Amino acid sequence: MNVLIINCGSSSLKYQLINMDDESVLAKGLAERIGIEGSVVKHEKTGQDKVIINDSMANHKDAINIVLKALVDSKYGAVKSLKEIDAVGHRVVHGGEKFAGSVVITDEVVNTMKECTDLAPLHNPPNIIGIEACKELLPNIPMVGVFDTAFHQTMPEEAYIYPLPYELYQELGIRRYGFHGTSHKYVSERVSALTGKSNKELKIITCHLGNGASLTAIKDGQSVDTSMGMTPLEGLVMGTRCGDIDPAIVTFLMNKKNLSIQEIDNLMNKKSGVLGISGVSSDFRDIEEAADKGDKRAQLALDKFAYTVKKYIGSYAAAMGGVDVLVFTAGLGENSGPARKQICEGLEFLGIEIDDDKNNTRGKEVEISKSSSKVKVFVIPTNEELMIARDTKTLAK
Ligand code: AMP
Repeated sequence: MNVLIINCGSSSLKYQLINMDDESVLAKGLAERIGIEGSVVKHEKTGQDKVIINDSMANHKDAINIVLKALVDSKYGAVKSLKEIDAVGHRVVHGGEKFAGSVVITDEVVNTMKECTDLAPLHNPPNIIGIEACKELLPNIPMVGVFDTAFHQTMPEEAYIYPLPYELYQELGIRRYGFHGTSHKYVSERVSALTGKSNKELKIITCHLGNGASLTAIKDGQSVDTSMGMTPLEGLVMGTRCGDIDPAIVTFLMNKKNLSIQEIDNLMNKKSGVLGISGVSSDFRDIEEAADKGDKRAQLALDKFAYTVKKYIGSYAAAMGGVDVLVFTAGLGENSGPARKQICEGLEFLGIEIDDDKNNTRGKEVEISKSSSKVKVFVIPTNEELMIARDTKTLAK
């Protein structure tokens, strides 16, 4: 069974075609600058060089059309005909309280997704456009929606409620939802395979540290708390997002700097985080390099980031009454030994001890804790696409 995974952003589209018989990737790629001049698809059939397809794409439907053509191309295609695509799995960012798991996409499901758009105005519309385009271009193929928020629907009420008037939760759905759920779920399931223990026996803290970053506390295999909230802005310091700040800063700044709603939103989402503190970059590689050369603000950005992650680890250990396993994943978590070391320093009292030699690793699934460490610490590369493909296979059948 071949499953096509589609992940639509506002002007981009990532895809992977996966053979679910052995879970191998047949082809993958990225369409960029959709609706903008210079649109391009970077397509890669497994085992071949990447090809660049320069073609105009006015919208996501054009992009999907070009992707489908690439997938059946006689030179760099991965299948002979579109009939060899058995199901499509779509990543959907926000499922609100409506979706606690993946679903087969029907017209009713699309309408419900549209009701969640208010909660994710930047993310959900392109996801829905991608679904509608696929429905037109691949009309008889089952499609499944996999939500970033679904894994966190098990959070208890005291973890998800905000201390605002309760009516606002009832009226507008203002509560914490959490994101990166597919990634947190994937790595926590890998923990079972690596430790040989069921997740039901373990208290796990998963650290998804990429450009967007979040931590999740997982007990009995279920998310019991996570650092992102109603939107992906809450929680950790991120590449360009501020994470937790005193909410009064918002009105203070709007007043002092005469900022509009859009401007303050842009400041907190695009100009803050480690970019805002360092003034160097949102990319941790650039910041680590600048800090190594003595840039004090770059060092401060790294220190603030690690300090915040450390505080969340402590609070989640408290929330679960302990921790057995700590996992690092996503761009920074998988690749930066120095960041992992800085985060874990001082957490020996919790039983977290990193082995410096084992920690000198990148992009591999490996244990990095000392044999004496009470808490097992792992680096586990995330694989959201595979997780989406597995759910799609199960539901499409
Ligand atoms: P992601 O959002 O998961 O794709 O992660 C992207 C981020 O990971 C980049 O912005 C970098 O900050 C970070 N990253 C990736 N590779 C490295 C590395 N070798 N060292 C430090 N940071 C890295």
